[in-house]
Amino acid sequence: MKERSLRFRMMVLFCLIVGGFLLGTCAIIYSIFARELRVQFDRRLNEAGVPMVEDLAANPPDQDVFRLDLPDEYLELLDPSGQPLNMSKNWREHPIDVGPLSFTDGKPVFRTVRGAVGPMRVELIPFVLVNRPVVLAIAGPTRDVDAVLGNFRKVLIVLVPLGLLLMGAISAWYVGRSLSPITELTRQAAQLAQSISSPSSAEIEAPRLATASHDELGRLATTFNELFASVIAVLRQLRQFVSDASHELRTPLSVLQGETELLLSDRREPQEYQKALTVIHGQLRHLSRIVEGLFTLSVADAGQLKIANDPLYINEVLEEACEIAVPLGRAKGIRIEQDLEQDVALIGDESFLRDLFLVFLENAVKYSPPNSRIQVSLSRGNGFVSVQFADQGIGIAAEHLPHIFERFYRAAGTDSAEARSGGLGLAIAQAIVKAHKGTIEVQTSPGHGSVFTVILPLAAEGVSTPLGRPARIAAR
Ligand code: ADP
Repeated sequence: MKERSLRFRMMVLFCLIVGGFLLGTCAIIYSIFARELRVQFDRRLNEAGVPMVEDLAANPPDQDVFRLDLPDEYLELLDPSGQPLNMSKNWREHPIDVGPLSFTDGKPVFRTVRGAVGPMRVELIPFVLVNRPVVLAIAGPTRDVDAVLGNFRKVLIVLVPLGLLLMGAISAWYVGRSLSPITELTRQAAQLAQSISSPSSAEIEAPRLATASHDELGRLATTFNELFASVIAVLRQLRQFVSDASHELRTPLSVLQGETELLLSDRREPQEYQKALTVIHGQLRHLSRIVEGLFTLSVADAGQLKIANDPLYINEVLEEACEIAVPLGRAKGIRIEQDLEQDVALIGDESFLRDLFLVFLENAVKYSPPNSRIQVSLSRGNGFVSVQFADQGIGIAAEHLPHIFERFYRAAGTDSAEARSGGLGLAIAQAIVKAHKGTIEVQTSPGHGSVFTVILPLAAEGVSTPLGRPARIAAR
């Protein structure tokens, strides 16, 4: 069976509940009203009958009351067996069968009977007339009461369906209005899913739902807006990453292709082979560095970067990194000056930390002019260690600064052959620092230089292992 919409089901439920209440309320009001009318009618009969009984009892021979011809007031005097003793004119003309006479404790009884002129309400009052038990029957037609109740029923018959119709219309409007954000959400989500899955070069815009209300639906819309924005951001990053990675890989691959095609096109001299193989080797190293970097980042993204928790002296790791970087700097006449506090113990991964320091040292060399100076300093703070790399290089323009930790991001003017080290250095540095629960700060002045500061939490006081001081590892 076809599933009905939520809107329809909510509307039906709403109508059923409200309709049930409406019907119940009308039924209760009707029965209270009908009962009250009957009670009042009975009271009127009693108020007319009781004085007549008193009058008859006080003055037995005088039975003038039966000569009264009051409209809608029928009178009869009966003996206990039901035999009529006297009656009014209208009773004689339209006889009424009052049924068997039976009383409890001599109290009057009321009953509704069918008379010649329609339904009649009868009060039977037992009393004693000259030592003889008799019954006075006083009756009146109930047509006025029935007419009032009939009119009331007619009003209800019109009002209840009208009320239900009105309820249906209001609930349809209200439910529709309440569910419209969900309908809009479904539409936007479907549109987003379609634009994500359909290959298009156009930029995908994050949908925005109206968040005017502060109720559950408003909060749902806000949450979905955030979700849409993050999906789009991740998608953009992914697209950018794929395009940057292919761009980054294309250059070394075309160099490799060019060199090998050149070698294969003809017989070459050994020196030419030597030269081409040197180029090929360089490009292969470059490629493997990118692939390794990507692998490290993907492992870090998955939260799987295995960081050793070894006690080490960070000043020694930093010294090793500087030793590796010194020849790079020397090729450009750049001096690396060190001002390192000694015996700074830290729990961390020696190999990753050395790679981390090399990223900053290599960048400082790459982005500094020849014959400049790089200052490396290490100082211990309260519970942390701060490692600083200050260069006199080109600096980073403000608009690039927020992006330099992104994968393959290059500030304009640094896309030179020299700068082509993979574009992943700072992204990897950030992943390593994050895994060590530290932070990186950058201060830069375009044209004057940059200062990268790595802040790492210090090892607890007196940390050492049974192995004692960590062994120095071979420079790479
Ligand atoms: P790569 O150096 O391979 O391009 P990185 O991730 O190491 O990749 O650096 C990203 C960008 O940050 C660089 O392209 C460069 O524009 C900028 N950058 C990093 N370090 C420095 C620095 N010391 N001086 C100036 N610019 C820098």
